[in-house]
Amino acid sequence: MGRIGAIKTVWVDSYFASDRKNRSDCTARKKSGQSKGSRVDLLPICPIIQPVTRISNLFRLQTLDGQIDSHQARLSEIEAGLKNHPELDRARADEENARARLEDAKKDLLRAEEETRGQQQRITETDKTLYSGGVSNPKELQDLQDESAALRRYLSVLEERQLQSMIRSEESEKAVAAAQAAREERERLRAAQDEKLLAEQALLQTTLETIGYQREAAVSAVTAEDLEKYSALRRSKHGMAVVRFESGACGACGVAPSSARIDSARSGQEIIQCGNCGRILYMG
Ligand SMILES: [Zn+2]
Repeated sequence: MGRIGAIKTVWVDSYFASDRKNRSDCTARKKSGQSKGSRVDLLPICPIIQPVTRISNLFRLQTLDGQIDSHQARLSEIEAGLKNHPELDRARADEENARARLEDAKKDLLRAEEETRGQQQRITETDKTLYSGGVSNPKELQDLQDESAALRRYLSVLEERQLQSMIRSEESEKAVAAAQAAREERERLRAAQDEKLLAEQALLQTTLETIGYQREAAVSAVTAEDLEKYSALRRSKHGMAVVRFESGACGACGVAPSSARIDSARSGQEIIQCGNCGRILYMG
């Protein structure tokens, strides 16, 4: 930045480029490739000659602080986004539950198979006794036949239970496969999203670093007294300590200051605060 008397060459954004001709000149230079555009992603867009005043310095500081606030807020969102994965957590829990249900279904099936085998064994033993010829008493033979028939009836019940257990087990296998596929898809999406967030985070950190240097330069142009007033107002006025004077009124609360205050504010060298909201009025 170079000084030419009271005129200082400054890098400004569209906030400062209120003069339409300046802006169109800027655009023309950029289109013709003459712009020093290496820093166009940051606050500066195009160098113009702009009178620097006590208030314009504060306004520039506020613009930078506003950018820092919004970038830091976005960084916090990114950090939270990288840390919390609710959809993936849900998908993992679903898969875990599906696997637990499959384990239960497999145990049920094993139990049903054992019971069926046990019942078949009892039938075999009963039939062996029945047809061995060792029992000749008609009453005993009848009892054995009744027992064999009863064992067979219950075997049907057990076989039906085993079949149901088998179906449940197969369904649980499918549910696990589906839950695993859903979890893998979530992990893939998550990885892609994290990659984007990390790239944005890196860009924001670099941008913040550069804005930090710009802020240091901006602060150096402000007196300690003005900085203190600005900082206090910025804290108490939701980040807006300096407001543009628009259509004859304070740009924040709309109350028109007296003509004497307007004249004082117009010089830009005297801090004039809105009589209503207390913000510093900027005539730039
Ligand atoms: Zn006001």
